[in-house]
Formats: sequence, C-alpha cells, structure tokens
Amino acid sequence: MYDRILVRFGDLTLKGKNQSDFIRQLYKLLDEKLSDLPVEIEKKHDHAYVILNNVNYEDVIERLNLVAGIYSYSLVKKIARDLETLKREALSYVNELITKTTTFKVETKRADKTFNMTSMEVSKVISAYLLKNNSHLKVDLHNPEFELKIEIRSDGIYIFNGQIRGLGGYPTGIAGKGLLMLSGGIDSPVAGVLAMKQGIKIECIHFESTPLTSIESAQKVIDLLKIMAKYAPGNKILLHLVPFKELHMALLDKIPESYNITIMRRMMYRIASKIAQKHDDLVLINGESVGQVASQTLQSMATINEVTNMPVIRPLATYDKVDIVAMSRKIQTFDISIRPFEDCCTVYVPKAPATAPKAYKARAYEEAIPYQELVDKAVLNTKSVYISKDSDLNLSLYGLEVSEALDEYNKTK
Ligand code: ATP
Ligand code: MG
Repeated sequence: MYDRILVRFGDLTLKGKNQSDFIRQLYKLLDEKLSDLPVEIEKKHDHAYVILNNVNYEDVIERLNLVAGIYSYSLVKKIARDLETLKREALSYVNELITKTTTFKVETKRADKTFNMTSMEVSKVISAYLLKNNSHLKVDLHNPEFELKIEIRSDGIYIFNGQIRGLGGYPTGIAGKGLLMLSGGIDSPVAGVLAMKQGIKIECIHFESTPLTSIESAQKVIDLLKIMAKYAPGNKILLHLVPFKELHMALLDKIPESYNITIMRRMMYRIASKIAQKHDDLVLINGESVGQVASQTLQSMATINEVTNMPVIRPLATYDKVDIVAMSRKIQTFDISIRPFEDCCTVYVPKAPATAPKAYKARAYEEAIPYQELVDKAVLNTKSVYISKDSDLNLSLYGLEVSEALDEYNKTK
C-alpha cells in the first residue's frame, strides 16, 4: 500500500551555513544507515522521500530511528495528479486501514497552485466519496481518529496519514566531538546516545582494572559500543581503554575508605581530560545523575569536578532511574548493562562512602600517592580501538588482561 516514506527534518529554524551543515550531515547519515537496503532516497531541501522498492517499511523505519535530526516520518503513497485516480487510491488506502467505525477528516495541502481545484474543494470531494463507499467512516472535523492527508505537488499527489516521531535532535557529528566516560552500567550508554542525538560525535573512554576486575566487565563495554555504534557516523566509535589497575591499587592502599570513590573519580576526570585534549574532544560526557549514589550528590560532583577545566555534559543529570532504564531498554543496551560483572566502581565498594566529600580533604588525601606520575603513565599506556556495529572483538578469548588481549587481537587483523 505504501511505496515511500516521507522524512521530515528537525530544527530548521537554523540559519545559513548551520542549516546547510545540518542537511548535509543528515543526508550522510541517512545514506549510511540505509546503504544495505535497495531503497532510493529522493533528497529535497527540507524533507526527503525514501522510495521503498518493495523493501519492508519496518526495516526502513528501524534504520530511520538511528538518524538524529529526523523530526518525524510518514508512510506515503504517491499517485498520479488526477482526481479520478485520487478518489480510487484514497478509497483503497482507507479500506485497508479502516475496518471498524472510525471518525475521520480529509486534509489537503496544495503545494502546487496550478492544480485546478482548491484544497477545500479536493477535501470535500474526497471525503464525500469516502463516506459514500466506506460505511465505517463518520466525519469529525475537530477531533478525528483518522486523518487522511493529501498533498498536491507538481510531480504527483501524495497521500498518507499520521506522523511517527523520529529521534529528533541534530545529526550526529554537527556539534563537534566529545569524550564519553563509558562504564558497563545502565546510565552511561544512555547518556552517550542522548549526546549523539544532540549532534555530538562521541569517542569513549573506559577505565579498566584487569586482572583486578574480570575481563568480561571490559567486554560489556565493547558489546555496548556495538549497539551504540549504529547511531554514529560511519557506524563505528573510537574506544580508549585506560589501564587503571595501578592507580586503583594505590587508592585502595593509601586513601581513607570513605574518600576512595571521590578520589578514584578525580583520577578518572584527570585522565579523561588529558585523553580528550589529545584527541580534540571538546567536552566530557558521563552518565551521572544527581542524587543516584554517594558520588553523585552536588557536593560530590563539585569536589570531583574541580580537577578539570573542561565542560562536563551530564545528559542524565535530572532523570529518574526508572526513566533511564526505560530509555536503556528502548535503545537495547539494557540486557548487556545488567550482565553481572563488577567494574572498578563496584569492586571493593566502601561501606560508608562520603556523601559530602570536601575538596580540601580530597586534595590532602591524594598527596599520599604519586598520582601525577600514575595519571601520566595511564594516559601513555592507553590503547585505542574502533568498535563498529559488527566488531568481532572478544577479549576473553585472548587472556585475562585487557591490554594484552588487545595486542593479541590486533595480531589477528
Ligand atoms: P553507570 O550505570 O553508567 O555505570 P552508575 O550509576 O553505576 O552509572 P557510577 O559508577 O558512579 O554510576 O559512575 C558514574 C559515571 O561515571 C558513569 O555513568 C560513567 O559515565 C562514569 N564511569 C564510572 N565508571 C567508569 C569506568 N570504569 N570507565 C569509564 N567511565 C566510568
Ligand atoms: Mg557504573
């Protein structure tokens, strides 16, 4: 019944170059995400048609939902510019969808004024015809259950009903590049997808403490990235794996237990800032949510944040956990996130972490470890790898330590 999908773009209040960048990047993503299907894309200035060529529309929609910047889409049928054809096609369209009593309305838009009837006239003629030929229909101009839309354009007439909301936001990549702190938990993958939705191209940083922690916990991050990569330009995301074991052990050894997490996170921020500068990432992004755990009270955030000058974006700062979980299920990262492997924040969790850690105390405590040296060493020994949506990287095949496993894996490439 449908032969194409009308794709509407998001924020076109953008002006000038911003608008042309928006459209160029959106088309790049659209081409990429649809490249494995034999569809065609008809590119207009502020909308596009995906011509289905008999491809199942659900397969196309699944991919459209990965493209940030798409505001909405509709399933459409294109027909010849002729009133008799319109009557016939509108009826068969409606007959297929309406099989029980339904209120309806026809709305016509005449983009091409050379058509020999006004919008009102077309709506009237078509709704009278539909009423006469489909006994389930009842007119309701104000609050109809079903709205048949007719658009008359110079190259044909388009009929459709309803709009499905797309991802919204801005095409991933146009806002620049940021560094996502990615743990194996529920929150940070969601934060990453929200950042991509808002136009940010992401790279990821993961702090791993193998063999202190299991290599499976690092594998979770790779498996999460395979899903997140579907949203990214090029369907791949660069992952920086930071060997955190030494710092981790020093912390456990030398820092009072209640400040362990605070100082661990200060170290993470320090390292992330250095990696970000090295790779031209303009902001840090993480999955922190106010109040969720001891390290995410406002006082904690302030004490942790003081070690960096970089802007830190926290897409989930004000979200409730239930809403984060719902988003995580929707983007399909949830089942991986809840796999039971501890990471460096969950192993040796202090019994009573400080909920209001003071910056001056953190500064004093961390003097007990040669952290500048250890931070620099961790940065130096960081290994980077692209994870694509089809990556075959399975760390546990190659050993117990991430760094070694990665070297072994690279030999096979
Ligand atoms: P998540 O579900 O994302 O793990 P969380 O509620 O468990 O979040 P924390 O463990 O306190 O919260 O971590 C807060 C944020 O810090 C995470 O969302 C993530 O952005 C970052 N983070 C924590 N651990 C790591 C890690 N090992 N590597 C990289 N980033 C991390
Ligand atoms: Mg976590």
